[in-house]
Amino acid sequence: MHTTAAQYSDTVDILVIGGGINGTGIARDAVGRGLKVLLCEKQDLAGATSSASSKLIHGGLRYLEQYEFRLVREALAEREVLLGNAPHIVHPMRFVLPHNKNLRPAWMIRIGLFLYDHLAKRSKNLPGSQQIPLGNTSAYALPLNDTIQKGFLYSDCNVDDSRLVILNAMDAQNRGAQILTRCECIGLETKENTWLATLRHQDGSIRQVQAKILVNAAGPWVENIQNLLARHSSKATDQSKLRLVKGSHLVTPKLYEGTHAYILQNKDKRIVFVTPYQNDFSMIGTTDVDFHGDPGTVAISPEETDYLLQSVNAYFKRPVRPEDIISTWSGVRPLYDDAQGNASTTTRDYVFDISGGTGSEPPLLSIFGGKITTYRKLAEHALEKLAPFTGKHQAWTSTAPLPGADLPNADINLFTSQLQKDFPWLPKDTASRYARAYGTLALAFLAGKTSLESLGQHFGHDLYEVEVKWLQEHEWASCAEDILWRRTRLGLHFTPAQTLALQNWLEKQTVN
Ligand SMILES: Cc1cc2nc3c(=O)[nH]c(=O)nc-3n(C[C@H](O)[C@H](O)[C@H](O)COP(=O)(O)OP(=O)(O)OC[C@H]3O[C@@H](n4cnc5c(N)ncnc54)[C@H](O)[C@@H]3O)c2cc1C
Repeated sequence: MHTTAAQYSDTVDILVIGGGINGTGIARDAVGRGLKVLLCEKQDLAGATSSASSKLIHGGLRYLEQYEFRLVREALAEREVLLGNAPHIVHPMRFVLPHNKNLRPAWMIRIGLFLYDHLAKRSKNLPGSQQIPLGNTSAYALPLNDTIQKGFLYSDCNVDDSRLVILNAMDAQNRGAQILTRCECIGLETKENTWLATLRHQDGSIRQVQAKILVNAAGPWVENIQNLLARHSSKATDQSKLRLVKGSHLVTPKLYEGTHAYILQNKDKRIVFVTPYQNDFSMIGTTDVDFHGDPGTVAISPEETDYLLQSVNAYFKRPVRPEDIISTWSGVRPLYDDAQGNASTTTRDYVFDISGGTGSEPPLLSIFGGKITTYRKLAEHALEKLAPFTGKHQAWTSTAPLPGADLPNADINLFTSQLQKDFPWLPKDTASRYARAYGTLALAFLAGKTSLESLGQHFGHDLYEVEVKWLQEHEWASCAEDILWRRTRLGLHFTPAQTLALQNWLEKQTVN
């Protein structure tokens, strides 16, 4: 089903470099407008920043302090759009903001939350904000220090970030785009008003693709792509416009009961989230640190670990210690450098760098910044910017569900119950995981199955052969890491021996 090196077309309208959220979002929008699209991703889809986020679909309450009203308004509106178009992987979440009168005064938070509720059209799906007492035995107060007497409650959403990328890639492919993973763009030049790109596959084979338009969605590597071009151009590269800002997260055993999250204020004016993660865990993050190394090897530092633990321990009753940390992840935000002194106040808004389109130079659009939350709108804006060259002005994605989103009444709980009724032998947790990862796509790999045994080999922790095969055949998964960390998130449960067994099984499949 996937495009192989031998099959793909050598001439396209748009070549997208990068299979993160922005690249796959743009590929989907472009192919839906009737353009011939090819996307190349050097590793796995969502292999970089787009699987290392805080997994929030949010307006970004703290950006109000930086007067980023445009970004917050757009993100709040997109929250609603994504809830409608991907109700299987985007879920409402209540956030508790404990009040600390030495940091922001209550009146300031009240104004901020009022704006948050009203900047975009009032949400149909999410309750508004309110002040709440915390010096009591409410579930919200339980994990917090007794000194915290009041707080605020507001709504946002969480998302499985890497699955959002996969669903965009699937939809793009279903509409005719060619999606190539483990395929790196290693050379770029212009030829007769078009781009000539050299692509290298994992097996070492090389192909050239001719494209009318180039979209550089390489995230932290955006300027590496621009530098590939500079090799063939007389123009020297401009001064860097990219600011790489690292953010890290910790995972611990579940710190409290409930589906709500905490947003904790720090003395340095930054905030840290504590959110429930996959039933059994809590996730703590994030940091904001300027980054100068290779984005491919980013990892948490001891200072970031201390910072996150101190933030939580300033609010939570039961201390979280370094030995409680089960896992960490780090990512690099590819931000547009707006010459702010502070990494945490650098704009999160996206900026397009467009060149060419006149004379003999074909159009090139490079993307800086952005959020998972605003990817769809970013893609729409990118296609609008390119419309003078494509002639395709019709936006279409705001009401187009992503694959698996056609749940009855758009209700994930209803769909989960239905799945359990239709497949009564499926353990409750497994049915729930399938529903929240695949939505109605789960029905495709469960069709005709009558028992757990009929799901094939069991790799542990409710991962069966039928799901693994689905991921290989329909979701570009090729190794255990793709499956455990970006498709199913079962990696936290798998032992090294189980991971190795899965990897060996996958390799045997490739050989046969
Ligand atoms: C710690 C952290 C927390 C965040 N939290 C949130 C959040 O809660 N909510 C939110 O909305 N946003 C959040 N963000 C922001 C969001 O994650 C990013 O804006 C978004 O993921 C960037 O996506 P991208 O597609 O631009 O980049 P990436 O996901 O990095 O994708 C770029 C891709 O290009 C590929 N590539 C590079 N060079 C080549 C080449 N030569 N050939 C082929 N492929 C190439 C890379 O392998 C990579 O997969 C967070 C970011 C970080 C770092």
